[in-house]
Amino acid sequence: MHFDRRLWVFSGPFCKSKFEFQIMTEEAFDVMVVGSCMTDLVSQAPRLPKAGETIHGHKFFIGFGGKGANQCVQAARLGAKTAMVCKVGKDFFGDNYIQNFKDSGVHTDFVGQSSDAATGAASIIVNDAGENAIVIVAGANMLLGSEELQEALPAISHAKVLVCQLEISSQTSLQALRMAQGNKVKTIFNPAPAIPDLDPDFYRASDVFCCNESEAELLTGSSVANVEEAHWASQELLKRGCGSVIITLGPQGCVVLKAQELTLKHVPAPPVTAVDTTGAGDSFIGALAFYMAHYPTMPLEEMAHRANQVAGVSVQAVGTQASFPFKKDLSAELF
Ligand code: ATP
Repeated sequence: MHFDRRLWVFSGPFCKSKFEFQIMTEEAFDVMVVGSCMTDLVSQAPRLPKAGETIHGHKFFIGFGGKGANQCVQAARLGAKTAMVCKVGKDFFGDNYIQNFKDSGVHTDFVGQSSDAATGAASIIVNDAGENAIVIVAGANMLLGSEELQEALPAISHAKVLVCQLEISSQTSLQALRMAQGNKVKTIFNPAPAIPDLDPDFYRASDVFCCNESEAELLTGSSVANVEEAHWASQELLKRGCGSVIITLGPQGCVVLKAQELTLKHVPAPPVTAVDTTGAGDSFIGALAFYMAHYPTMPLEEMAHRANQVAGVSVQAVGTQASFPFKKDLSAELF
């Protein structure tokens, strides 16, 4: 009979869970992500079909997406010990996604499977002009809630960095950020996709509040189209209570504003020829999480500089996770 002595020794009122014991004995996670998984079903066709019409396309592929999963996979590819807290369906896409996490070195003990909803999916049709029509069904992502967070709490409370976005229930994201903050775990919050009237507690629960230009515009109600406007928007967001603000600006890199210094830093991106920027923001945040976990005393603008380099590599290849670089693909100066 298989007998796990470690669990026997620590069972009883002094051990909260199997995971708590494992966390006590093994190295804690560098980066945990509480967020979404989406399977992208992409059809390329000469044009987008009209209602009721069936047309022939010329290419089909399945991609792994979802902001949470993307950010976790990028952090793992740089060498972070990562775990994903998410929910997929008990279906082919869910099984496939779990395998993708394992192939990427992401810990899957907190990836739940539910029979009550399908794995989140984005059905995407792209025409020859590059225009697209997309239907997203969040599915099992919306079933991730308090129960799953409680199960992951022993691991979350020992992690170095926790990352959340808004592709799952916003209450779940906020609860996860509060759990992390309550345990002195550094938090990165990516308010994407942005929602108007964001609960003010999200700002207070964010050590780093990182968004792109359009999210910054929606949250501040002002145009964010250049470095100067991003400067103003980051001051506005900082006033709401976060530790630091980063606004990414595509080919212009990002701006960084820290509560302690109140001096804005513009961190330019490397000049590269971009072929597909899908997922660039997720590559940036996954890299930022890696640097926060591995180099906690590094200045935030240096982390942002390195995250720009990582995301700058991702835009030079096609695909989302498929374009994210591994440590071995990057200059040793970034580590
Ligand atoms: P997406 O929605 O496409 O995933 P995003 O809008 O969230 O991306 P961006 O601000 O466009 O995020 O890009 C994130 C980071 O990726 C930038 O801060 C920069 O480091 C890098 N990046 C994006 N586009 C380019 C580019 N054309 N050249 C160099 N770096 C880029």
